[in-house]
Amino acid sequence: MTALVFIESAHPAGRIADPNTPQLSVLDQGVTRGDGIFETAHYRDGAVRKLDAHLARMRSSAASVEITIPTEEAFRTAVNTAVTEFLKEYDDAASVTLEAAVKIVVTRGAEGAEHGTAWVMVSPVSKSILEQRENGIDVMLLERGYDSTVADRAPWLLMGAKTLSYAVNMAALRHAHHHGADDVIFVASDGLVLEGPTSSVLIATEVDGVKKLTTPILETGILPGTTQGAIFAAAEKAGWELGYGPLEPHHLHEADAVWLVSSVRLLAPVNKIDGTEVSRNEELHRELQGLVDQIM
Ligand code: PLP
Repeated sequence: MTALVFIESAHPAGRIADPNTPQLSVLDQGVTRGDGIFETAHYRDGAVRKLDAHLARMRSSAASVEITIPTEEAFRTAVNTAVTEFLKEYDDAASVTLEAAVKIVVTRGAEGAEHGTAWVMVSPVSKSILEQRENGIDVMLLERGYDSTVADRAPWLLMGAKTLSYAVNMAALRHAHHHGADDVIFVASDGLVLEGPTSSVLIATEVDGVKKLTTPILETGILPGTTQGAIFAAAEKAGWELGYGPLEPHHLHEADAVWLVSSVRLLAPVNKIDGTEVSRNEELHRELQGLVDQIM
């Protein structure tokens, strides 16, 4: 089901490995400290979508955490090898409509090691993700525990880098699930809307025929979403106005539609925030869905 390929200099095309047997050293700091970085991209229509943007963000995350990463060519070759390996299980007809999640990971490696550990994993998209695209999600607002200006003051918090330290993000999701919600929107201690634990926040408004998309300001230290970026680029060409926050919770309640967006889930329309229904303008949703489908 899942294909796994390690990026190693002795194996120019990548080393295919069995994801169901142990592969990592217990000394790897990616395991012992969550010290590493990753990207998750989306395979569909025979291609890994917006791979350039994912590799660019990987480079930026690597610079933040000061980890040396493989070359761009090594990443691309390993991604190709992993996708080819993944597709072997499917016949040609199925592979045309197939979707997959492509995860690229680089850890700091074992203490004192010359280089880190890097691999690519390609797995099927879960059913719950497909359902969220269709049915939408209920979200909870949860406090993030710092204010929206912390990124500048405290670079060691690695704000805006996509590191492996996602335990807090996963705990927030579990908290939401225990309280009957599907997902979370984090809010800074000064009241600004930030992002989801694995997604960016997007809102749409339509006033006198002018459609506008708004997302929280990146200076709050949120991850610059590749999906949000690609949607903004496509929406601008289609004549939408664009805006970057600052957003507060009341803006979400006043919007004509709210989504959580990310590479594999794409557009998940928000139905309720903290139990209160939010507007879900189906026409705006269809239009945005059309733009998302064009993203390559
Ligand atoms: N914000 C966080 C914290 C994320 O983990 C993610 C993706 O996993 C995103 C935003 C959305 O990023 P992208 O659209 O590049 O998948």
